[in-house]
Amino acid sequence: MKEACGVFGVSGDPTAAYTTTAGLYALQHRGEESCGVATLHDGQIKVNKYMGLVHPHRKLLRQMHGEYAIGHVRYSTTGSSTIENAQPLVFPSRKFGTFALAHNGNLTNSKTLRDSIEAKGGVFLTTTDTEIIGHLLHRSSAESLEGALSDALSQVEGAYCLVLLTQQGVYAARDRYGFLPLVIGAKENAMIAASETCALDAVEADYCREVLPGEIVRLGRANRIDTVGRLQKTMVHQEGTVTTQPHPSHCLFEHVYFGRPDSVLFGKSIAQVRKAFGRQLAREHPVSADSVVPVPDSGIDAALGYAEQSKITYGRAFVRSHYGVGRTFIQPEQAQRDFAAKLKLSVIRAEVQGRRLVVVDDSIVRGTSSKKIVKKLRKAGAAEIHLRISCPPHKAPCYYGKNFPTKAELIANRMTVDETCAFIGADSLKYLSLEGMLACEQELQHSFCTACWTGQYPTKLTDKEKSR
Ligand code: SF4
Repeated sequence: MKEACGVFGVSGDPTAAYTTTAGLYALQHRGEESCGVATLHDGQIKVNKYMGLVHPHRKLLRQMHGEYAIGHVRYSTTGSSTIENAQPLVFPSRKFGTFALAHNGNLTNSKTLRDSIEAKGGVFLTTTDTEIIGHLLHRSSAESLEGALSDALSQVEGAYCLVLLTQQGVYAARDRYGFLPLVIGAKENAMIAASETCALDAVEADYCREVLPGEIVRLGRANRIDTVGRLQKTMVHQEGTVTTQPHPSHCLFEHVYFGRPDSVLFGKSIAQVRKAFGRQLAREHPVSADSVVPVPDSGIDAALGYAEQSKITYGRAFVRSHYGVGRTFIQPEQAQRDFAAKLKLSVIRAEVQGRRLVVVDDSIVRGTSSKKIVKKLRKAGAAEIHLRISCPPHKAPCYYGKNFPTKAELIANRMTVDETCAFIGADSLKYLSLEGMLACEQELQHSFCTACWTGQYPTKLTDKEKSR
């Protein structure tokens, strides 16, 4: 199951539950379906979780004490949006004591692992990959918890970041490829792990460093971070090559859409990267127009970059409702996505009427949202609509946790760019090139996964997964 979520963990903080809730609030854009916090107090792990958005000062904080906590916000695929699948998950263990686990990502060998665990008598209560990792940890023959964690994670393939709350404290780990972001921060005596730096800022923690690809760390106190494991299992890639140190494959879509603009991911400011994409887009696909307008929110920085480069006035064509509609990409059902897309954007007619617009958006997946946006602008009297997209056409599914549809549903596999433009109803449609996008990443350009644009996956995939 895909889990592109947000995780947070803290150790050595007298108000750990409060800090975790504040951190989750900042990570809300990574998952809106459910949220949860687990704390350790007097040897007991307590977990509170519920469906929907994070509400500080409400259910998450009820009777939660202790200096150690982890938390999770969740977004998943269709059919799995249930409280049973909400995280953190709690696992009783005689050997290691009760522990709680929260994770973000998608294991590519989850079916094999689940079948093998069930064949040995394991029983699953959820459909999450998190529970697989919990079973592997629980069943490890290693004597120490840290050994068991290394053992469990050496068996899983794919993308993940996780936080683990145990009787010994809080651990954080990241897959060998570093697909998903995971950073460490410090605040007074407390140490924090979080999916994005915006969560560190929210709790007034200072950024220390990233958890390295394949690294397992234990969060101590007062700037103490102990590396307790490194995952270096031999990997067999699609081409048959064997390595012990996989090259980093950070998810480039985090920079395009998923991450929050005020975060620094993979060492770079998301807002600045998106502006660079916009400038490059203007260089590659100039057009004569009266104003450059973003599709809010994730098109804003790229539109600023396009306007800066093209010297065309930046303006606003849309007001976005922030009340209860959420991000359309991370809604689990198509009907929910369509409904949300319809409700969330209203056109400022006076800014649009009679004007030639460059409309900048981050991506086109199925094309349905773009079609609605163009229709609204036409109705408001736009003279011309030139759609500019700050990444290449999406042609392949993501197996690492982002909820893209099947190959057949992706509009770029069904239509040419000109056909897509006609379907959407724009006067012109252009995408940023892959080369242009990677050029904006400069020294990091060889460290990214670009599979959803190229179909070249950095890990081995089963035939079943490849046939999607
Ligand atoms: S396939 Fe795309 S969305 Fe998935 S990890 Fe790679 S770059 Fe990110």
